[in-house]
Amino acid sequence: MDKSFKTFLKHAAKDYYNQSVNPPVVRASTIIFKSMNELRKTQFKGKKDPTGGHFDYGRQGTSTTFILQQMLKKMEECHHVFLTPTGFGSVFLSIFSVVRPGDEILAADPIYYPTRLLTQDFLKSFNIKTIFYNPHDLNTLKKRISKRTKLIYVENPGSNSFDFQDLSKIISIAKKNKIFTAIDNTWGTPYFLKPIKLGFDMSIVSATKYYSGHSDVMGGSLAVNKKVFKYVEKANKITGLRLGPDDAYLIIRGLRTLDVRLDRHEENAKKVASFLSKHRKVKLLYPFKKGTHNYKMWKKHYSGASGLMGLKIKAKNKKSILKFVNSLELFGYGYSWGGFESLALHQEYRELGDRNFLKLENNEHLVRLHIGLEDPKDLIQDLKKSLKYIK
Ligand SMILES: *Cc1c(COP(=O)(O)O)cnc(C)c1O
Repeated sequence: MDKSFKTFLKHAAKDYYNQSVNPPVVRASTIIFKSMNELRKTQFKGKKDPTGGHFDYGRQGTSTTFILQQMLKKMEECHHVFLTPTGFGSVFLSIFSVVRPGDEILAADPIYYPTRLLTQDFLKSFNIKTIFYNPHDLNTLKKRISKRTKLIYVENPGSNSFDFQDLSKIISIAKKNKIFTAIDNTWGTPYFLKPIKLGFDMSIVSATKYYSGHSDVMGGSLAVNKKVFKYVEKANKITGLRLGPDDAYLIIRGLRTLDVRLDRHEENAKKVASFLSKHRKVKLLYPFKKGTHNYKMWKKHYSGASGLMGLKIKAKNKKSILKFVNSLELFGYGYSWGGFESLALHQEYRELGDRNFLKLENNEHLVRLHIGLEDPKDLIQDLKKSLKYIK
């Protein structure tokens, strides 16, 4: 029977093991063979596992990580999924797999700040140049393509400024010029956007966020198409990046309810957005208002929206913004997001990175909210009470 992925996610481990509802955590470095003969026969390919994976040493993964890979492959509808110990590991692996000294990277201006540091600073010392394009003006991308351009690196929506880009246009530009493409899809996850199906070569998700959903584990996934598979596989072996089976288990546990949680995050976020959209000092950075460029670009590619949003707030007094954020009682202050809980973060300029195309007036401030699975009525009440402090 060809099951939908929602059903597949619930039954994934059982389908392989028929023992317990949950998969075993297989911890292994050394794999034992029956004889030297068997070892030699399967050398470099490894033993075949019931999950379809092959391994002759723990660094290649174990049954637990293979199950997670199968689940993600089904959801991403892609050729293969690589697992890394953090989301940033997948960011690194995607770039390291295809870019070499002398190459250039074209990256979206609002990429995740650590990705910005990796591309514009660290890779510079390897003679790799990164040029940033304006997410709202793809002419700035087209114009900067050269013979050296190897990779277009996208993050959608833009980190903290939540810019939605014309993804299919980016893909067609890249294909015409034979340039590799990668996208950081942590915000939407393949539940709302399937980048490989859309035409991207590589798609990154920080499993730390919605995949795990419970703020208790870190991990990353890099989904690839057939074209880049051989490059990523080679790089993956060299880097030795490996997700441990205990972490894989927790991510499998989280993934089972990904669809249910994301549907509720979306429902709650829309209720909060509807309330915030009525506040005259707040500009919502969330695909909510029909007719805006961001809304159109979101609608063009996504089947839903997650729980992370930005607020651009106009206020003369910066202290009053901090007072607003500090008076929230149900929102925790901390990095990361994608768990069951609501979070708030006042964005200092440092956290936005060195943007080329982000213009903030002196009286404009950014606050990021992650809308969790609490009762949205309580969240709105909390926001209503605290917004009064903004002056
Ligand atoms: C968190 C995050 C990452 C990095 O993931 P980690 O698991 O924290 O390493 C990368 N990209 C985006 C968009 C993120 O939000």
